[in-house]
Amino acid sequence: MGELAHPLALRAHHLLCLLGFRGLGYSPEFVETMGKVAKDLHPKSTFPITLLAECDVICASCPHNKGNQCRKKANAESKVRAKDREVLRRLGFEVKAEMPVAEAWGRIKERLTSSDIAEICPRCQWRELGYCAEGLERLVTGK
Ligand code: SF4
Ligand code: SF4
Repeated sequence: MGELAHPLALRAHHLLCLLGFRGLGYSPEFVETMGKVAKDLHPKSTFPITLLAECDVICASCPHNKGNQCRKKANAESKVRAKDREVLRRLGFEVKAEMPVAEAWGRIKERLTSSDIAEICPRCQWRELGYCAEGLERLVTGK
């Protein structure tokens, strides 16, 4: 894929998914996009982002995206939007808030723990791997 848009529009809960990304995903294209976004939005990056509760650049590479709506399961789009809004609420950001990604990482460090991930993502297939909670821990400890 080419260069990422500035600012990069991102589903709010994808910040948490990026923390846990270890090369797994729904398709090779999805994994390539996640890898590119994760590389550019590293913990010290000042890359500008806009936080959304709708499909984003990662969804655009996902086989579950049909017509710019998440169709992973019945009612998936409304459930994912609720997840995005819950992340925004816990971080104290409005929908469409724009900031350097480092500010979002800083807010996540201040406000979230692995319990929040368990509460925000109770039914996610990836959560039981523990990668997202470990990614959050790495962000917090800087290790
Ligand atoms: S548990 Fe699933 S939805 Fe939640 S941050 Fe991890 S990968 Fe993303
Ligand atoms: S389309 Fe759905 S499953 Fe795919 S990345 Fe977007 S929110 Fe996740």
